[in-house]
Amino acid sequence: MKKATKKEILEIKEILISNYSDAVTELNYNNLYELLISVMLSAQCTDKRVNIITPKLFDKYPNVEKLSQANLDDVKELIKSCSFFNNKAVNLIKMATAVMENFEGEIPLDEKSLVTLAGVGQKTAHVVMIEYAGANLMAVDTHVFRVAHRLGISSAKTAILTEVELTKKFKTDLHILHQGMVLFGRYVCKAIKPECEEKCFLKEYCKSKGSFKVG
Ligand code: SF4
Repeated sequence: MKKATKKEILEIKEILISNYSDAVTELNYNNLYELLISVMLSAQCTDKRVNIITPKLFDKYPNVEKLSQANLDDVKELIKSCSFFNNKAVNLIKMATAVMENFEGEIPLDEKSLVTLAGVGQKTAHVVMIEYAGANLMAVDTHVFRVAHRLGISSAKTAILTEVELTKKFKTDLHILHQGMVLFGRYVCKAIKPECEEKCFLKEYCKSKGSFKVG
């Protein structure tokens, strides 16, 4: 597939920023604790499903301390409609325990510390920091990956390499671009039946030419 030129990338960047300058996550949360848990649950699971699950979970376990003392089977039961709920339940409790033991009960807001927590990889850490702190970071999920490839901004094979490429090419405003690409991929440049004619405002930059093999 053709690559986007430097000029095209700059233009795409400007258009995404102007369309999504106020974009935020569609996960429902009230504080850093709820955001971190929602992002952890959202791996391989839709935001919609996570938003159905979390009210009861947060009601029963409203903070790190309570979650660190939680019964594993109870947490599994509360999140069982989420994919990989067994592993996620284990990780949620381990994460809360580590925050209590290593961070005095305060969830850290830096990448180095966040990735020491169970179930928190680089992508989860970046999403949390983008959303909560407006950090100039990129995170590549299935939507960002698909959009970056269809627009010819990246040809990298993995999410991590795509993140490196997007970071290098976009440089600034990465938090807005991340949120924008997620929403653009979710509602316009969809994996199946993208809304090329009806909704796409980046059509002139598209390199996929109707062959939607990526995503
Ligand atoms: S034209 Fe279609 S495939 Fe290309 S970026 Fe727009 S929505 Fe995506």
